[in-house]
Amino acid sequence: MNRKNLFGLTLDELIAELEPLPKFRAKQIAQNIYKHGKISFDEMTDLPKNLRAELSERYEIKIAELLTRLDSRDGLTTKFLLGFDGAAVEIVLMRHDYGNSVCISSQVGCQMGCKFCASTLKGLERNLTAAEMLAEIFFVEMFLRGDGQKLDSVVIMGTGEPLMNFDALIKMLRLLHEDYCLGMSYRKITISTCGVVPAIKKLRDEKIPVTLSISLHAPDENLRSELMPINSAFGLKTLLAAGDDYAQATGRRVTYEYILLGGVNDTEEHARRLAKILSGQLANVNLIPFNPVSERNFLPPTKSAVQKFFHFLNTHGIGATIRKEMGADVNAACGQLRAKFDGR
Ligand code: SF4
Repeated sequence: MNRKNLFGLTLDELIAELEPLPKFRAKQIAQNIYKHGKISFDEMTDLPKNLRAELSERYEIKIAELLTRLDSRDGLTTKFLLGFDGAAVEIVLMRHDYGNSVCISSQVGCQMGCKFCASTLKGLERNLTAAEMLAEIFFVEMFLRGDGQKLDSVVIMGTGEPLMNFDALIKMLRLLHEDYCLGMSYRKITISTCGVVPAIKKLRDEKIPVTLSISLHAPDENLRSELMPINSAFGLKTLLAAGDDYAQATGRRVTYEYILLGGVNDTEEHARRLAKILSGQLANVNLIPFNPVSERNFLPPTKSAVQKFFHFLNTHGIGATIRKEMGADVNAACGQLRAKFDGR
């Protein structure tokens, strides 16, 4: 008999599923799974033995299958490829000096077509479910607990456009935040979007103060449309207005991601235009020197171009940081491990 997977159900869903079991039992089970990481009913020793046996017959707690793992030489980055029902999904654990962070995927493949990205080369295969996204985070939390550590923050910036998988994303975030789950503060969660403007407004209306990170990558309409097809649907002006509106409504500073592509968008003139369009916004810019992808014909910027761009923004009223390069030796840029795995 096929056993139903309980992982990913909210407490209300567990209560409904386990009826006529009393609600407190459903809560015990939720805490056992999410808080204590028990993925076998036998380990739930606060439940009567006969109940554990009954549950094992009808249900399972299935998380994710580890397909492969790569560790960077400096030990700071670990990349995992996880399997969910035939789909392969990448996640990256980054050990920063301010805590452990995981970057998760929201879809298998991506339909958004950004020209510098490997994840979109085969289009969208499917959305990940809320349970699968939670399982990505949970996998890393369990991995860290094994080392006596914990997960401090979550970034939804891997493969896929999270706002194109909106309902599953919101369900997962709310579950992740629950006390009976990992109790993750919304402020420790960052959602990255390539600029799906109507969904940014929907996210604002959810009233969960997650940090919004908008992938900008160009300071004018023409160049952005060349690099990111989404710009033809929602132009730069509309996107910046949506970002500003999100910042005002949540009080959270919006991060604008800007991938520096050698000779394409990395000159002082580009920096000047970027400073102009962001002037007066509650925002900061995260500069990302392009990490070469064998399937894409872009070059990394020179070190001097990165420094000049950074200096220009910071001396013209725009707070900017340069993303620390982590795990280049394990292909940390999104989609690369999966693409290699698929192509074996
Ligand atoms: S950068 Fe993000 S949104 Fe753009 S194609 Fe890649 S995964 Fe999709």
